[in-house]
Amino acid sequence: MNTFKDLGLNEDLLHAITDLGFETPSDVQAKAIPILLEKDTDLVALAQTGTGKTAAFGFPMLQKINIDSRTTQGLILSPTRELCLQITNEMKLYGKYCKGLNVVAIYGGSSISDQAREVKRGAQIIVATPGRMKDMISRNMVDISKIEYSVLDEADEMLNMGFKEDITDILSHTPEDKNTWLFSATMPKEVSNIAKRFMKSPMEITVGNKNESTNQVSHEYYLVNSRDRYDALKRLADANPDIFSVIFCRTKRDTQKVAEQLIEDGYSAGALHGDLSQNQRDLVMNSFRKNQIQMLVATDVAARGIDVDDITHVINYQLPDEPETYTHRSGRTGRAGKTGISMVIVSKSEVRKIKSIERIINQKFELKQIPDGMAICETQLMSLANKIHNTEVNHEIDKYLTSINELFEDTSKDELIKKFFSVEFTRFYNYYQRSKNLNVTDSRSSDRDSDRDSGRDYGSNDNSTRYFINVGKKDGFDWMKLKDFLKEILELGRDDVFKVDVKESFSFFNAEKELQEKILAFFTDFKHEGRFVNVEISEDKGRGTSRNKRRSGGGDRSRGERRSGGDFKPRGERRTGGSDRRSSGESRSRRSSDSNASGPNRRDRRANSDSKPTESSFSRPRRSRRRD
Ligand code: ADP
Ligand code: MG
Repeated sequence: MNTFKDLGLNEDLLHAITDLGFETPSDVQAKAIPILLEKDTDLVALAQTGTGKTAAFGFPMLQKINIDSRTTQGLILSPTRELCLQITNEMKLYGKYCKGLNVVAIYGGSSISDQAREVKRGAQIIVATPGRMKDMISRNMVDISKIEYSVLDEADEMLNMGFKEDITDILSHTPEDKNTWLFSATMPKEVSNIAKRFMKSPMEITVGNKNESTNQVSHEYYLVNSRDRYDALKRLADANPDIFSVIFCRTKRDTQKVAEQLIEDGYSAGALHGDLSQNQRDLVMNSFRKNQIQMLVATDVAARGIDVDDITHVINYQLPDEPETYTHRSGRTGRAGKTGISMVIVSKSEVRKIKSIERIINQKFELKQIPDGMAICETQLMSLANKIHNTEVNHEIDKYLTSINELFEDTSKDELIKKFFSVEFTRFYNYYQRSKNLNVTDSRSSDRDSDRDSGRDYGSNDNSTRYFINVGKKDGFDWMKLKDFLKEILELGRDDVFKVDVKESFSFFNAEKELQEKILAFFTDFKHEGRFVNVEISEDKGRGTSRNKRRSGGGDRSRGERRSGGDFKPRGERRTGGSDRRSSGESRSRRSSDSNASGPNRRDRRANSDSKPTESSFSRPRRSRRRD
């Protein structure tokens, strides 16, 4: 069954699916939809976040209810207000050609009488959070006594959040003979208990392994001293100029603190936690959705509703108390067919937690090195160079060209380029030039890797050359594809290309010194997909390792290269909506920096966008920051 039509959906729904641009059903949709359409059965469906569960229950529900009747026939319970709104929205889109359909959202923090009024107008489907639903039932504001289909969405989260009693109470007001469909990412005991208690011999479908996180996400950890945690976070951000991330902290206080510190240091960050008002949270989420915030610092509870599809990185600033929670965190990235990275910053005493998470997600973590300062400078510089290279000329400048040319009459092109780049580069350089190595050696990983790359030393006196190449993710490469590509065109052996590091529009790789001449000669006029591919020797020896000669060759990178085999899917499409991030990310404050500054003074991206800074992303008044 390859199409939505094959699944048995009616014309109205197929029409909406076409509008939505869904081409093929996801696994969970292909499995669940035919069952739910054909049978009146209870169902337990396990699938990761981002696999399209909403449509898996949404389409069958829309097809099965009687839209001509105004009776409430479908009830969808979901853990948070965010999710509730998101599901309502999706249901409306799915049902846009179902004439007379009324889907109503019921959730806390908003007028109960308004919601009651909407229900009164006749809602065939109600999407609700348990707390508010229970409230409305007790006030006789809703009638769910004729429900035919009930959905428990993100059942594990609802139970995690302590909604068990509310759910029990709500379901007691629904008919015995309704069907219940339970959707969950994980299947802890509490969920199977609920299933046993409320469902009648449910059918079961599982997509992927139980409790396994999606293989669109790769998992990395960075070992640092606790006191260097924050600096490590900044470096990870600086080493990924196009980062669009959620950063998880354990407590509301830490969440607020880290966000404030990041803002103070010039990053575009915002906080999301339960001590903010609903209004403040909405503002932060809106800025994040619009890519005006690059780093959203959040608690687990507050992040539950985050439904943004193109998050590139999840950073675990602190690990969660419960290893299961990690699945939910990392599931925020790698959504909708994209790849993502989940990073964990740990101190030595926490390394064992990584092991237990590995068991739960059934995937290995890769130990990576926090990049050193010079590697970051190079990444930033090359990222800027690429952005400039790809910038469309604004011809408004033409009329000033004469005066500018006069000013630079005696400046050579090389000189001019150097000056131009120094505007940005010097700030990073000054900040990072005397930066220390933040990495701590991990006995566990060197044990694990002792058989890898023995004899190859990536240290400063090693025998390899690092190269810059001007192709990256946007050309459809990930490190594996690039490695294969290089091996193939250069006719090299299995291990001749290593430390491949793919960024958005450029990449780095290492190869043995002997190959230098061959590689440089090859790329003097090599074209790929009609474009010249440019390869240059990079000053950096390899991310984060140039000053840190590792005992066993650590193999952090090469280990992953072998391990993850087919984990990565080529990113066929270019990221849309990312372009504004790419183009606005580069501007930084021009505040002169010195090595005592607390960051290389990124400028808030908001200053680049039209919208005003939101008050809610931080509790203190913002320091004024000079514009470029
Ligand atoms: P889940 O509930 O499993 O976390 P969602 O239902 O929120 O996942 O879907 C994740 C994203 O994928 C949404 O943006 C949704 O619109 C999109 N999506 C769902 N089904 C498909 C499909 N068949 N093809 C393309 N995109 C889809
Ligand atoms: Mg969902």
